[in-house]
Amino acid sequence: MIKYNLKCENNHEFESWFSDSNEFDKLNKKKLLECIYCSSNKIRKSIMAPMVSGKQLKQENSLNLLDKKLSNEKKQLLKIREHIEKNFEFVGDKLSQKVREVYYDKRTKKSIYGTATPEEREELAEEGIDLLSVPWVDKDN
Ligand SMILES: [Zn+2]
Repeated sequence: MIKYNLKCENNHEFESWFSDSNEFDKLNKKKLLECIYCSSNKIRKSIMAPMVSGKQLKQENSLNLLDKKLSNEKKQLLKIREHIEKNFEFVGDKLSQKVREVYYDKRTKKSIYGTATPEEREELAEEGIDLLSVPWVDKDN
């Protein structure tokens, strides 16, 4: 099971569980997902996207590999989560702003994570800043 943070067109945020990332896409395409507050079915994922600075690119690449190879393995996802929580600073929904600070400040070695909307992610990609998004699994389940 994977928990996603979801957002509707009116910016209501809520969480929902899916068996895997495909299930979300399938249900959303069929408009079977709706906002728990306003019943809108224009739902998108609010991405939990850790970002590492250039100096730790090696770490990013290994995370990336792990992410692709074992994308739906909960145990592995938990490991990734723990790794991120231990080594990254949480910046919440200020991610896109903080990412730029880290990216343009050559001295900083900070690794940060937080949430970004698909739009913010696109803007960053246009600036050459890639975010790695990680399905965020719950520890207690
Ligand atoms: Zn809503």
